[in-house]
Amino acid sequence: MNLKKEFKSALNVMNGIEQPDPVNADALRKLKAKRPLSLSTEEFVHGIRSGNRTILSKAITMVESSLHSHQQKAQDIINACLPYSGKSIRIGITGVPGVGKSTFIEALGMFLTSHDHQIAVLAIDPSSTRSKGSILGDKTRMEELAVNAQAYIRPSPSAGSLGGVARKTRETIILCEAAGFDVILVETVGVGQSETTVRSMVDFFLLLMLAGAGDELQGIKRGIMEMADAIFINKADGDNVNKAKAAMIEYKNALHLYPPAESGWNPVVDLCSAQARTGIETVWTYIENYRETTKASGFFEHQRKEQFRQVLTETIDQAIKHDFYGRKDIAQALAFYEKEVIAGNISPYTAAAMLLEKNK
Ligand code: GDP
Repeated sequence: MNLKKEFKSALNVMNGIEQPDPVNADALRKLKAKRPLSLSTEEFVHGIRSGNRTILSKAITMVESSLHSHQQKAQDIINACLPYSGKSIRIGITGVPGVGKSTFIEALGMFLTSHDHQIAVLAIDPSSTRSKGSILGDKTRMEELAVNAQAYIRPSPSAGSLGGVARKTRETIILCEAAGFDVILVETVGVGQSETTVRSMVDFFLLLMLAGAGDELQGIKRGIMEMADAIFINKADGDNVNKAKAAMIEYKNALHLYPPAESGWNPVVDLCSAQARTGIETVWTYIENYRETTKASGFFEHQRKEQFRQVLTETIDQAIKHDFYGRKDIAQALAFYEKEVIAGNISPYTAAAMLLEKNK
């Protein structure tokens, strides 16, 4: 016999027979877990704002979903979260595979959470192929942070076009801010255009580099150094310290050749060891200085507004293109005019004008 049950029912004798709850809360929870659409927008927003990780993750899953109904719901949630967003510092982190990005994020993340910050780690990795074993944001790569109650790690959305992945990450940033995360780290690997994309959604851009044996400036695209607000030479530990110092001097000299940044902030070059956890506090000090300086000058807000404006025009551009090229009559006419242009019967400008005329 179950003594506990007996004891409980004995206590309830005076109150009559205990009635079971007409709604099985557990079953309801499971049902809603399976069907996120069954949560109302208000329930989502309330859950996100009260720091409910499960609901935040579900909302992000909707942002990432390609289902039309999920997309609509995601837009409602994002719009409702917008007034509560924007209060974080958004930091982009890039560098070649193996430079130590995840080790660094773990170190910075642990430092920040020990100073009462709430951090979200997102990733942009459109090239991510699960077989390579280098999935950005992979929880197993940041073991300490993954179990830290003040940190939230969201793996990269599954591979798609860079534009698509970027959009999802931008929207995820808004949700994470509404959830109260005050530091957002967006990690990307130095491939293709992904750094430019991450630069366009963060306030501060950090480039991690390695001290190489030969020409220090090789292997990194010039444009990326120009985008950086800080360059940190990682793995400045053990036998590598002197090489790292030499690299630091070379990068400092190289940065002098660039025109002053629009932000009014002079990019800094310094050393760190993500593994030994040295230089991590220095990174944060720079970031705080940057925030103070650019907030005082107005650049901080200006950059965010510009980023919003850019997203607006890019989204319109994409939609117009999608509509235009998606039309059957345009596709047919395009095939015809292509041949004519290639045969030299008509100029590409005239052909374009005639095609665009069809769109009016
Ligand atoms: P990611 O590919 O850029 O994310 O690089 P990881 O964080 O996975 O690091 C790649 C390798 O470098 C791992 O074996 C790390 O343990 C090692 N590593 C990362 N940071 C440091 C560091 O500061 N010093 C040393 N010596 N090794 C490091």
